[in-house]
Amino acid sequence: MNRREPEPLKLIGYWYNPYDEHRWPHPRRLRFRWEDNLKSRIVDYLQAGRVCAVYRGWSDCRFWCGRNGHRELTDGVFAWPEGLAHYVAAHDVRLPEEFVQHARSMRFAIPADLKDEDGEPEYDFSFWATWCDREVRPSWRDGAQERFRRFLRRGARRVT
Ligand SMILES: [Zn+2]
Repeated sequence: MNRREPEPLKLIGYWYNPYDEHRWPHPRRLRFRWEDNLKSRIVDYLQAGRVCAVYRGWSDCRFWCGRNGHRELTDGVFAWPEGLAHYVAAHDVRLPEEFVQHARSMRFAIPADLKDEDGEPEYDFSFWATWCDREVRPSWRDGAQERFRRFLRRGARRVT
């Protein structure tokens, strides 16, 4: 018998897009050094996910590699864009420790008995949003740019 997960899927792996009202980070701000063995297991796990949604268009790699997937995959707890494996494999982008721990607890194997979703699955964006807020602090450069903009605005006000 299939057991339906009552929890919505925790969506991860969304990146900066000027047309998206969510202010997701650019993945260049999350690059880090994966341990080789863990990295290949996570990449395999991400690639093995069950398809749970198909987009209307392609997602482009934010590092200008070209088209990078058009579907969403899941393990029944998390969901991620198909291209997320590429960001880890090619660009060493970091992922939430909670996701890595979950994959480890599954012995890096997607459950074989995932139920097929009827229609659009239910998503929870808050996990990714909270993680991004915590992990991607504005860099000193962003801060410097913001101070410079404020300086210009103040200057402009004084002139007028
Ligand atoms: Zn790329």
